[in-house]
Amino acid sequence: MPWTHAQCPDGQRKTFDECLACRQECFDMEIREALFERERNWQAIEHTGDHISVTALLGCMRGTYLERITDYAAPPESQWWSLRGEFIHRLVERPDMDNPYLRRSEMRLKGKVNGYEVSGQLDNYKQRFLEKGVLKDWKSIGDNGLQYIIFDGAKEDHVWQTNLYAWLGRQNGYRTDRIEIAYLSLMQVVKTGQVVSFVEFLNNPPAKSGKRKHMLGSPRLVKQYASGKKKWECFYRIPEVPIYDDQTVIDFATPRLACLSKAFKAGVMPPVAEDEVRKWKCDGYCRVREVCEAEEKKNGRSLVIPQ
Ligand code: SF4
Repeated sequence: MPWTHAQCPDGQRKTFDECLACRQECFDMEIREALFERERNWQAIEHTGDHISVTALLGCMRGTYLERITDYAAPPESQWWSLRGEFIHRLVERPDMDNPYLRRSEMRLKGKVNGYEVSGQLDNYKQRFLEKGVLKDWKSIGDNGLQYIIFDGAKEDHVWQTNLYAWLGRQNGYRTDRIEIAYLSLMQVVKTGQVVSFVEFLNNPPAKSGKRKHMLGSPRLVKQYASGKKKWECFYRIPEVPIYDDQTVIDFATPRLACLSKAFKAGVMPPVAEDEVRKWKCDGYCRVREVCEAEEKKNGRSLVIPQ
């Protein structure tokens, strides 16, 4: 029952049809149409009922559960990121092929972990030289977010997500010898395992330490400004995505599957997300925070958001 209403800037709550009929649009009409249509299809196909997908196991499971049982309103603009991600996927999705090498796009797979069924859709999988399997996932990201990938490598959630896909692949006869995650912003493509350039505007050359520990070679001075600031180009190697063995993936997935399964089948409320997730999610990215807070209040607690 997830996103069913548009939250207007003036505080009104409208159905999608009412939103599309509005004459004082707050967000582009055709984009809203596409967003609403996508949401309706999405609800109909995948993320409904007690179906558990790999992505449901990541982030906040209370949020996953509440989004499925609660009708909520959100400003159309706040959902743009999800459409943008799909748009980029469609651009890079290539046809499947079997010859001379195997390649699959949007491959949907299922597996069972300790009696729980889980499914996932791999963006891209191919077997090339010596039948080595390469599993690849594309992520759209804001330009400001890219620096974190460049400095630290793939996000932890994405490492688990792709490892769960690799595990699903193994259950279905597809081996994975390498995982690649390509982060696509409007200005740059940054892929794990690759060398990328990164520009910084500083008075002094950036040093290879702390968050810049993966820097390669020395910074190159590109330009000097009258203000004293200088433009530096540096190169970074984005760390490879580690491949976890079956037991590590099973140990990660089992308690999460048990938690979501109990929630879907018996209505047992999952706990709030762990500190690291609450730090970034509760404030800006959670669409069911009000319901979550009400649940905490009902139990004599308040929702604590670590800083
Ligand atoms: S407010 Fe935070 S803890 Fe609660 S459901 Fe949302 S993300 Fe999870």
